[in-house]
Amino acid sequence: MDVETIPLSQIRRAKSVEQYYRYAPIVREFPAPGKSEGVQGFFRFGDDVICFGQSSEHAVFPSVNGHLPDSLDHVQTVDSSIILPFDVDLVADNLRYERYEGLSGWQKWVQASVLRDVYYRLRPLLSVSIRKHLQKAYLRDWHTIPFPNWPVDRSVDLLFERLIVLAMRFSGIARLPFIWFWPDGYNACAILTHDVETTAGRDFCSRVMDLDDAAGIKASFQIVPEKRYTVSAGYLQSIRDRGFEINVQGLDHDGNLFGSRREFLKSAERINRYAEQYRARGFRSPILYRNIDWFQDLNFSYDLSVPNVARLEAQRGGCCTVMPFFLPGRVIELPLTTTEDYSIFNVLNEYSTTLWKQQIQIILAGHGLMTFLIHPDYVIFCKGSGRFQRIARAGEPGTFGSKCVGDAAEGSRSMVEAEK
Ligand SMILES: [Zn+2]
Repeated sequence: MDVETIPLSQIRRAKSVEQYYRYAPIVREFPAPGKSEGVQGFFRFGDDVICFGQSSEHAVFPSVNGHLPDSLDHVQTVDSSIILPFDVDLVADNLRYERYEGLSGWQKWVQASVLRDVYYRLRPLLSVSIRKHLQKAYLRDWHTIPFPNWPVDRSVDLLFERLIVLAMRFSGIARLPFIWFWPDGYNACAILTHDVETTAGRDFCSRVMDLDDAAGIKASFQIVPEKRYTVSAGYLQSIRDRGFEINVQGLDHDGNLFGSRREFLKSAERINRYAEQYRARGFRSPILYRNIDWFQDLNFSYDLSVPNVARLEAQRGGCCTVMPFFLPGRVIELPLTTTEDYSIFNVLNEYSTTLWKQQIQIILAGHGLMTFLIHPDYVIFCKGSGRFQRIARAGEPGTFGSKCVGDAAEGSRSMVEAEK
């Protein structure tokens, strides 16, 4: 590419980087569509960053393998601008919105819906051990998946980091007038969330709140409004009275929320009514099933349904960042950046906090958001009550947001929205 021929109209700031750092020294150009127009695929940006998008300068690959071209070799500079062979905003969206999964992810999931329907219809008839067995068979390949990175993926964060460093080097800036990620100089953010699945879990909530309080955490409880258990006004009030937060978890937890667009819109209407009734600001999708583009039909301020790396989940993928970000429609996403207790207990067959400790280290290093999911339904049986709560506090001191999930969401929103 001849940098002299780049039209001025193609010089613009990378919006995604500006939102992230609230500073955009990068004036960059997206190349005129060339030989690879329209074709999206995987490539690298340095050794440890995987990208998905199109490139004007090198090939892109349909899957992650050992021979991905490195886009870093094709970066050019003009004056103090970086010339990238790819559109960084598009790459960031592709990763955060799981668009790299393309056909293989969401659509494969929908295509498999016949099997899934059969499974859900049979499920009540299957014993717990057979269900676990089937899940394990389905998830058995989890450690062979090359991307996103296990146990935490920071591709988006590392991509932005690398661009900022390049921009600084090229423009001779030694220090960045950069506004810190979290309020009051906090190092990172930790939130604890509880999905209530069954009557037993519901009835265990007051005990869970005791354990949370002992650890100094105000968590959020994601309630399933229909079919699973009765949700009395008194139950909701008992959570509110203790300063905990109530969110909505799907509609009835049948695993079909995103099955068809028409059905989804009908369910969304009911979910929105429950949101009002519960005074809920946040949403989590049952079983972490998701269609990123549909969340905007739900009236919530924030969402908790997108895993950072989904290997042990029924729906694979992951948003490849440890930072909150906007979903289409400006719903703030607080991604699930650590592995949920259910998967640790039932897929990995562990009752230890080792994995969480590993994940916490990686997220802390990136000053990110640590989201924990503990089900009251499963910790009933867990030895050493409160162990997981204590680990969830591992970021303390210096961690913002453990007061309340809603506060973290508001803090995150202003963090992403703030103009420099
Ligand atoms: Zn659930």
